Amino acid sequence: MSMTQAVISENLRQTLSRLITGGGRVLALTGAGISAESGIPTFRGPEGYWRVGSRNYRPEELATFAAFSQMPDEIWGWYLHRRSLCYGAQPNSAHLALAHLERELAERFVLVTQNVDGLHLRAGNSRERSYEIHGNLDFTRCSAECGAGIRSLPAGLGTDWPKDLIPTGADQKYLCCRDCGAWLRPHVLWFDECYDEEHYRWQSSMAAVETADLLLVIGTSGATNLPMQIVQGASRRKIPILVVNADPSPFAAIAEASEFGVFLQGPAGTWLPPLVEFMIAPP
Ligand code: NAD
Repeated sequence: MSMTQAVISENLRQTLSRLITGGGRVLALTGAGISAESGIPTFRGPEGYWRVGSRNYRPEELATFAAFSQMPDEIWGWYLHRRSLCYGAQPNSAHLALAHLERELAERFVLVTQNVDGLHLRAGNSRERSYEIHGNLDFTRCSAECGAGIRSLPAGLGTDWPKDLIPTGADQKYLCCRDCGAWLRPHVLWFDECYDEEHYRWQSSMAAVETADLLLVIGTSGATNLPMQIVQGASRRKIPILVVNADPSPFAAIAEASEFGVFLQGPAGTWLPPLVEFMIAPP
């Protein structure tokens, strides 16, 4: 008997089998923990971005539209370095397992991710079915909202931006909107901004909870607003909630308090591959 089989109760096993063979829909919600084994620091871990920061500012001050408005070049230097760290990382076995699950379930699968590292897309999840609710560092948009839309980060900036380097001269030219000339901005949700549908798929994410038959929650501490609404929505609808996380969390507590909820404590890269195999082909 595998570790997954040993932990999943007979009740839940039957529910999962019925769900997958009976056309059920799966919603996966991921956070920084799923990328930790790819070498990307989590939000609140000891090496978290928010404790490292750039040369002169604390990260909490940098990740705001207000800060960007005052010092766009400094903010861009910080984001370009963060993006380099993500670009140098590879999707791990947990990302690949979720891509496998989407291939198997197709339109019966939706991924909501808080991660901005782009690793889910690189693992093979589709843009159509992946709602990046905090954005993606691989993309930019016009800070003046001239209507130019979301574009890839200009290739001329390279993929290995040194820490604390502030873009100047030619590099700054890459960071101007080619339609109106204003600064481009990173396509990420900042602390002083709100979720919306156009950029961050807020309504789509909430709608996905209302039609899901199973919620998978992986590697998130539960500290942000939309993820909390998603887990509370699933709990209210009494659908099974499976939480995979290195540490206990508010989401793990909600899962454990629900009838078919399970908290699988440990690394996502260990749990996800057998869990997805189990869901696709129950023994
Ligand atoms: P968080 O740092 O608050 O929580 C991460 C959770 O993952 C923790 O509960 C931790 O116990 C768990 N964890 C750590 N390693 C794990 C592993 N190997 N397997 C399973 N779980 C593991 O992260 P969050 O809840 O996603 O915080 C939200 C914010 O973090 C978002 O705004 C997001 O944009 C930002 N963020 C994203 C990235 C990224 O894109 N990779 C990195 C850092 C921060």
